[in-house]
Amino acid sequence: MEKVFVSRNNTAAIKCPNCANVKMVSVEQLKGKAFIINAKCPCGAVFKVSIDFRRTYRKSINLPAHIQMLARGGGWLAVLVRNISKGGVGLVLPARYGIEVGDELVLQFTLDDRNHTEIERKIVVRLVDDSFLGCEFIGPVQHEQEKALGFYLMP
Ligand SMILES: [Zn+2]
Repeated sequence: MEKVFVSRNNTAAIKCPNCANVKMVSVEQLKGKAFIINAKCPCGAVFKVSIDFRRTYRKSINLPAHIQMLARGGGWLAVLVRNISKGGVGLVLPARYGIEVGDELVLQFTLDDRNHTEIERKIVVRLVDDSFLGCEFIGPVQHEQEKALGFYLMP
């Protein structure tokens, strides 16, 4: 089931698993809880979507990073990491780069912790809000990176 994040104006980008059509839906009235909703796409597909408002601890940062678009290959693009949590990152792009909800990227950056830990994680885009991307970590994580991030995120 697709899990979607909610943007600052309480809308969620719901992507159809059948035709990849993305629709912005207002979820204001659901605020404060995790919900599963039934979505119906104009293409006829009916599917369930998990909408997650729950906040994990998110640290505001401002670190340079690079992303690579997995599907399109090519070079590394410069971005800024604006926030980080155990579950993912918020990125700001200097340009849109044509990135859409559901795109998978590789993210590389160096934490400003004592060891300057190198982070390299696979992420999936869950939210596109102008030049801001809300992304979720996916795939395996190296134990050392996970441990370093755990320390880094201690409030
Ligand atoms: Zn559809």
